[in-house]
Amino acid sequence: MHFNSRYPTLSSKLYHHQQPLPLKGAKAGHFNMSLANQLQWSEEDKSAWVEICSGQKTFAEFEPLAMVYAGHQFGQWAGQLGDGRGLLIAQILDQNNQTIDLHLKGAGSTPYSRMGDGRAVLRSVIREYLAGHALNALGVPSSNAVGFTTSEQGVQREKLELGAMMLRTSDCHIRLGHFEWINQYQPTLLSEFTQKCIEWHYPKCLDAEQPILAFATQVIQRTAVMIAQWQLVGFAHGVMNTDNLNITGSTLDFGPYGFMERFRPNWINNHSDYNARYTYQQQPSIGHWNLWNWLNNLVPLCPAHYEKEQWKEDLAQCLEHFEPIFLEHYKHGLSQKMGLPSFHKDSFDCAMAFLRILQSEQLDYTQSFIRLQNKYYDQIKDDCLDRHQFESFFAQYESIREHQNIEALDAQMTLANPQYILRNHMAQKAIELAERNDFSEVERLFQLLSTPFTRQPELETASDLAPLPTDIPEIMVSCSS
Ligand code: AMP
Ligand code: MG
Repeated sequence: MHFNSRYPTLSSKLYHHQQPLPLKGAKAGHFNMSLANQLQWSEEDKSAWVEICSGQKTFAEFEPLAMVYAGHQFGQWAGQLGDGRGLLIAQILDQNNQTIDLHLKGAGSTPYSRMGDGRAVLRSVIREYLAGHALNALGVPSSNAVGFTTSEQGVQREKLELGAMMLRTSDCHIRLGHFEWINQYQPTLLSEFTQKCIEWHYPKCLDAEQPILAFATQVIQRTAVMIAQWQLVGFAHGVMNTDNLNITGSTLDFGPYGFMERFRPNWINNHSDYNARYTYQQQPSIGHWNLWNWLNNLVPLCPAHYEKEQWKEDLAQCLEHFEPIFLEHYKHGLSQKMGLPSFHKDSFDCAMAFLRILQSEQLDYTQSFIRLQNKYYDQIKDDCLDRHQFESFFAQYESIREHQNIEALDAQMTLANPQYILRNHMAQKAIELAERNDFSEVERLFQLLSTPFTRQPELETASDLAPLPTDIPEIMVSCSS
């Protein structure tokens, strides 16, 4: 590994040094060899992956630490939070010379654990491991993981489960909530911290006339693009609290997430979200709310020569970029999924008509786009109770595609429509087997989701392609992890 240990150069008020506490009877779960290669792990590191991913081996070049941050959870100020069960155990350079954090999740309690036990269970580790891998392969910016380990140690949740650890990778673990913590508890650190965030993550902004405004705009734009990508693949994060969004717009901390199956815009995968705050359709506006909240934390950074009111206005102006950037990416991506030209004035309308059909007929989001791509129009129509609605959509669809370069539109569809997403029942089966020490289904899903745009008949099963029948109860996913 090539270390670039930069977080510990910040004020020690921002973290607490702590060694991982291994679990009893730690053993291999799954290892992502290709990611280890991208991260330039040596042969020695690779052969020690179980020790590294279970907290038994740390590195002389980096003293593990828990970060402190704060956050708004479900819209309410939650005060100090912090890494309560994860440790930053290294910052290393990947083969593109980008700095990547290695964060060991489930590594034991820290001063920020509050009432928690500092552990993660095998169920939630597998869910996060497979989803991070799936999102990366779908081209959605996200954390990923080099590997996970299981153990023989029981961890109490609603029932007794197996403790596990996962070595998560991300280009950034600095959350919107870091700024909230600093403003609340150590405001004198704000200026230097922000400067470091810009240097590390947005160095081009240093050349701007107002680097802080340029930085804010970049964070807002990247978050808007990430959320547009979530919407396009049908991903619902589940806990979009300000402590779970980072400043580089890469998906992080998606505990009770879900990939949507039957199209329900008000679908909520997280059954602990009693007020349905984080539904699929609310994600863009919640992202906006989080960023608006975050921008307030930059108000104290008003430069000396600036009018305070003008500074506030200029910061607020940065947020004006959110909606147009989101819509541009979402509309463009949706046109690609539909096989419609993004410049055509009716393409978005037509896509909305398609989504209304999926909603009213409760059709599967992923499968329906694949049917459209394969031109299995009759299959979609046959699944509709309201055939007339489908026919009027289809007439408009055909009229827009007429006289277009169909080959090019079809080619873009195959790049925009995944054959496979991680359905809850797929993850669930892998978890149930893994809890009995059989990781073959984790491996199969890992392979299947590595190339989600390519049909893999030799690997797939029928249940990978469709939602479970409506008479089978839905899998309940809660915050408990
Ligand atoms: P999450 O919503 O999972 O991102 O977690 C919110 C906060 O609770 C973070 O500060 C976590 O570190 C902390 N947390 C969650 N689960 C545990 C646990 N089992 N033990 C200690 N802290 C936890
Ligand atoms: Mg979190």
